[in-house]
Formats: sequence, C-alpha cells, structure tokens
Amino acid sequence: MSGHISTSLVRQVVERAGNLCEYCQLPQATQEATFHVDHVHPRSQDGPTTLENLALACVTCSLKKAARTYAADPETGTDVRLFNPRLDRWGDHFAFSESGQLIASTAIGRATAVLLAMNRDAIVLIRRELAILGRFPPP
Ligand SMILES: [Zn+2]
Repeated sequence: MSGHISTSLVRQVVERAGNLCEYCQLPQATQEATFHVDHVHPRSQDGPTTLENLALACVTCSLKKAARTYAADPETGTDVRLFNPRLDRWGDHFAFSESGQLIASTAIGRATAVLLAMNRDAIVLIRRELAILGRFPPP
C-alpha cells in the first residue's frame, strides 16, 4: 500500500482529532508547525495508510514516537505497548494536573509519556499559558 496520505484523509484525521495532538493533546491552532499524520502502527512494520491506523500528532510526539510501538514503563522497566489513539481512551491513561503536568496513570501511559517527553518544559509552559486563556485543558 502506498504511504501517500490524500488531502481528504488528512482532513478526516484532523477533524476526528478535534485538531489536537492525539498523544499530548496540544492544540494545532496554537502552533506554527503543522502537525504530522502519524501511522500508529508504523509503515515500516506494514502499518496501512488508512483512517483506522492514522492519528494526528504534534511534531515532537511524532518524531519521538517514530516507528516505535513499545517502550519501557519507567516504574517497572518492563516493555509495554505505547498508547494507541485508535484502541485506547486518552482519559483511561492520562490526566492533567492544575499546574499543566501530564499525569500518567497506567503502565501504557507512563511508557508513552516518558518516550514522547509529554512533560517537556516547553509544553508544560504552553499548557499553563493556554489555561490562563481558558483554552486548556481541551473539552
Ligand atoms: Zn503531542
């Protein structure tokens, strides 16, 4: 299958995601860089270019995830699969604190949060500033 993602497929991915990174929930509308359409199951492992295998991802989440599907849970050191926006509910694995920190509540959440650096300084600062504007957390 071709890796080309049609404009109409990109539009469907963006709409389904509510224009948010499906990993860290960063809103595209606040960012200059265009978010990536991520193959949840990587193309290098025969992941198809279909709506069911695509997710909207901010540039940092996309580049840090790359072709990975597993990472170590920092609490146990055990490799677990990463958060899958097509299989998992975000709120079952993550929440936000008042201070803009992402809190991971499961092994999948912890492994994903560490691998994707979901509490990097810049993104926590962006969350705090968006919260002041009443634009964070997303609905
Ligand atoms: Zn992200």
